Amino acid sequence: MARSERQLGEHSGQGLSEDSRQALRGLPAIHLILDRLSSIGSAELIAPAVLADAARETLDGARARILGGDSTPTCVNRLAEEALELARRRHVPFHQRVINATGIVLHTNLGRAPLPQSAIDAACAVARYSNLEFDLDTGKRGRRLGGVGPLLARLMGAEAGTAVNNCAGATVLVLRALCGGREVVVSRGQLVEIGGSFRLPEIFKVAGVKLVEVGSTNITRVEDYAAAITPDTAALLRVHTANYRITGHAEMPGVESLGELARQRGILFVDDVGSGALQTARRREFEGEPDPRAGLAAGAHITLMSGDKLLGGPQSGLIAGNTDLVRKVEKDPLFRALRLDKMTLAALEATLRIHLDPERAWREIPALAMLGASGDELRKRANTWASLLTAIPGVESVSVVQDQSPVGGGSFPGKDQPTWVVIIRAVGRSDEELSSALRRQSPPIICRVQEGNVLVDPRTVAPSEEAEFLAAVKCALAGK
Ligand SMILES: *Cc1c(COP(=O)(O)O)cnc(C)c1O
Repeated sequence: MARSERQLGEHSGQGLSEDSRQALRGLPAIHLILDRLSSIGSAELIAPAVLADAARETLDGARARILGGDSTPTCVNRLAEEALELARRRHVPFHQRVINATGIVLHTNLGRAPLPQSAIDAACAVARYSNLEFDLDTGKRGRRLGGVGPLLARLMGAEAGTAVNNCAGATVLVLRALCGGREVVVSRGQLVEIGGSFRLPEIFKVAGVKLVEVGSTNITRVEDYAAAITPDTAALLRVHTANYRITGHAEMPGVESLGELARQRGILFVDDVGSGALQTARRREFEGEPDPRAGLAAGAHITLMSGDKLLGGPQSGLIAGNTDLVRKVEKDPLFRALRLDKMTLAALEATLRIHLDPERAWREIPALAMLGASGDELRKRANTWASLLTAIPGVESVSVVQDQSPVGGGSFPGKDQPTWVVIIRAVGRSDEELSSALRRQSPPIICRVQEGNVLVDPRTVAPSEEAEFLAAVKCALAGK
């Protein structure tokens, strides 16, 4: 009450009508709103501080309305309801599950790869206590990478494996631990920038390694690498040009010749393949992403890749190669700073286990299943969606057209996958209005907006999400 009286004081004599003064005096004290809120069961789940902020803001809002000339009396119940609504909106978790109807399988803004069910289960199972660094046989301290390390080695055909927080981190770590203070030779055509702040020259700086650029943007020959090697050279680095293609008059040495050169000159060959195309490398229609095993087989001492791109697992940076080098990497203090948490490790281990059986991988790893979806299957689903959406209120038109889904996540640049999409037009609403209505659903539906059209692509909507998806689209079209 004190506060509203103070405000009343400030504004009295400024030509407020008697009605307004009355309304201001009628505003309840904040504790009355809070008392009212505490009697509402559903408010219990919201932190008292959040409720108090909401009540204060609601009261301020009511006061501002009155000062603005609206002298409708306000009752404590109405203000409490308003405050609760505000508090509820604030209480919604910032990060939520969304339905990805963009067709972009590795959508970085939507969390890249959706995890396989067994990986989700594994992460949840260890969320409490687990034997993260505890050996159940000896009862002594165990290896944190004891599950993931050997699996990774097995899958990559390497002696040893380890993993950290992401591939950018793995690159810094490997360069620092194995090449720190020395020179590393890279082709000018491979000085990539991936997703904003991952620029290779900057990564070198952070790692404390001297970058030696060779060749030109389009042509680098193995002789260029050879000519740049000095007694101070620690390694040759190949970086997959993950998010662009240099086409036309272009030439880059293959892994075999780089492996051979490194062997002859007694230096390391580090292969950053980015996407981790363990399964796609075996399929014709997915040519273009390097097979991490090919680099290792050709003589790479260490290979690096992401866990949440074509591998289809959680965010992580995977490192595989010679045992002594992997151990050296694990002993670097930066390894500790970049280490994976127990839930990610469990999810990664489960994902790697599925990869041991390629057929299972294409079936059970959602990112692969989505990439492998056939055109017929996608067209059938798009047609079903269209037939279910045509007759509902708010729809102006629904059509099914052939389109392309970009793979995303810096994979297969310029190699979009053929798909079928549903274009939805809503009566009297722009593409932006409709896509925004879709985002306001629960769970939010994320669509593609292309040339003024709202597009939904069945590729990335799991069949188990379909009912929920269609219900949400109907709500959005009905203007809810
Ligand atoms: C994606 C990518 C990275 C970065 O990987 P993150 O796991 O996102 O850190 C590094 N190198 C290449 C070649 C990539 O494609």
